[in-house]
Amino acid sequence: MKKLFLTISILITSIANPLAAEFPGKSIRVVYNVDLTNYQDDLFHITVFVNGLSKEEDIFNLPATVPGTYSILDFGRYVKFLSAFDKDGNELTAKKISTNQWQVSNADKLAKLVYDVEDTFDSDNTENKVIPMAGTSINNEFILLNTFALLGYFEGHQSDSIRIKIDYKSDWTLGTSLTKDENGYFVAETYDHLADSPFLIGNLSTSSTTVNDIKVGMYVYSPDTTFNAANILKVADKILKSSAKFIGYSPVTHYNFLMVFLGKEDFLKNGFLGAGALEHSYSSLFVFPASQDLAGEIQDDIAHEFLHILTPLNLHSDIIEPFNFEIPTSSEHIWLYEGITEWASDIMQLRGGIITAEEYLERISEKAKINERFNQNISLTALSQNVYSEEITMQFLNFYNKGAITAALLDIRLLELSNGKRGLREVFLELLNKYGKSRPFSEKNFFNEFINITYPEIEMFIADYIIGTEPLPLNKYFAKLGYDYIYEQVSADAHPSLGLQMGMNNNQEFAIAGLSEECKNAGLAVGDVVIKVFGEEVNMQSIQNLFGRIYSMHVGDIVEITVRRDGNEISASVPLKQKMDKHVFREMEQITDEQKQLREAWLKNL
Ligand SMILES: [Zn+2]
Repeated sequence: MKKLFLTISILITSIANPLAAEFPGKSIRVVYNVDLTNYQDDLFHITVFVNGLSKEEDIFNLPATVPGTYSILDFGRYVKFLSAFDKDGNELTAKKISTNQWQVSNADKLAKLVYDVEDTFDSDNTENKVIPMAGTSINNEFILLNTFALLGYFEGHQSDSIRIKIDYKSDWTLGTSLTKDENGYFVAETYDHLADSPFLIGNLSTSSTTVNDIKVGMYVYSPDTTFNAANILKVADKILKSSAKFIGYSPVTHYNFLMVFLGKEDFLKNGFLGAGALEHSYSSLFVFPASQDLAGEIQDDIAHEFLHILTPLNLHSDIIEPFNFEIPTSSEHIWLYEGITEWASDIMQLRGGIITAEEYLERISEKAKINERFNQNISLTALSQNVYSEEITMQFLNFYNKGAITAALLDIRLLELSNGKRGLREVFLELLNKYGKSRPFSEKNFFNEFINITYPEIEMFIADYIIGTEPLPLNKYFAKLGYDYIYEQVSADAHPSLGLQMGMNNNQEFAIAGLSEECKNAGLAVGDVVIKVFGEEVNMQSIQNLFGRIYSMHVGDIVEITVRRDGNEISASVPLKQKMDKHVFREMEQITDEQKQLREAWLKNL
């Protein structure tokens, strides 16, 4: 059925477009037309009108990777039936030469490329699935259009200005941060700008507000009307205001949130392992299940994505500017882009009065717990540099834990060394002031510069905790603020603990992600696929019941677990243990004036 549609649509496209390319100016080489009126066939129909390429400029690329994803996506995989034509409609040869590249013969005669693109949400291409917030979806309710997933660029022309025309149903709403020219074409200054500008189109609810001088728009698609733009903006309002206070100036004039909420079934049906959001310079794109806790998790994600307008968007290294879409190239400073952003999104809530110090410390504690599930022998810079390698991919998630705690400690150290005058926020803003969107810092010299503008002692901090793998000194650093830190203590919760953390592996099976000594002694290991508990099969439907049963058992009771490892089934008897609380913070009974002063500085934007 799908195939039938494909063949017919490509015929119609080639006949019905008699090279009506309109070029708004001589300097414009590329105009895209995206036809979304014929969405029933589940394909994006793209025409690229081309003006004045030379014979050698014959390579058309789709991205292998895009900013903020730190993973290989290979969008060329989704392109179907690419054909090339000269101005008289004669077909030119367009040969696929690699996953993401096409070579056009006689490129100097090229007038247009015509191709279709499958959406990533429900593509048959299930290997190395594109994360939803970097993907595309086309259906009769909404169209999620990440430009980089559909629109390519000619080699050597990444910095050319681009025009895009989008045809869609007249009663649909369109959300994007790109603006239109007088002819109705969206304008992108460069391919990087285009890639930085997603679209959400469909039956959307919309709402807007102003934060400082920033015009903020909210565009939401959701089958559940409680998740509408007005409700979400209400929740986001204090987060945005508090972020604006933390930033202290308006790095952009406008900003849009594009959000898609899907039913839980749709999430599972599409095989998404997780939801999330992706940052852009003037917008961010969220894809979440409609079961999400509105006031909780989304609020934190809004904070995180919005604060990305600081870094990497306005503070990044010369290795990612301009971005290499073809060859994944990593910067060693993801600790800064993700770690500091995650730290900022928590501390600005503390400083803005949205959360208490106790709640802030609970977040640090939670992050410290998650950090323990990751490999402690990879430093933050090594993790950054190897982010595209397969073994590292899952470790990447630790930037939001270890990276954020490291930033929190760096903040305390800077406050201490400056006698409460200048913390990480202040240093960060100085750097932002010096650099900017198109003024990257030097990848190689950044640490030296950071030490030079702060204190010689910071060299040791960077060597130990950012470049090195020394355990994070939570105890020593939080004591400076008058908090005791306890690594582990017996929990007041009498329910037993199995001592096992599970996550979904690439095959969507429940795999062991972390485990206690007791589980190890029983013969279990990280990576084992849990197939049975109490002899009952573990799946999406049964898991909640099985773990509910454990919850009502007692310390010392035995749980029978069967796992699969290298094709073999292994059974283990795991004794339930006393629950322990880990990474606990407590107010010190006596605090000195020095601790009090440092805490006061820590609690505010200086
Ligand atoms: Zn982020």
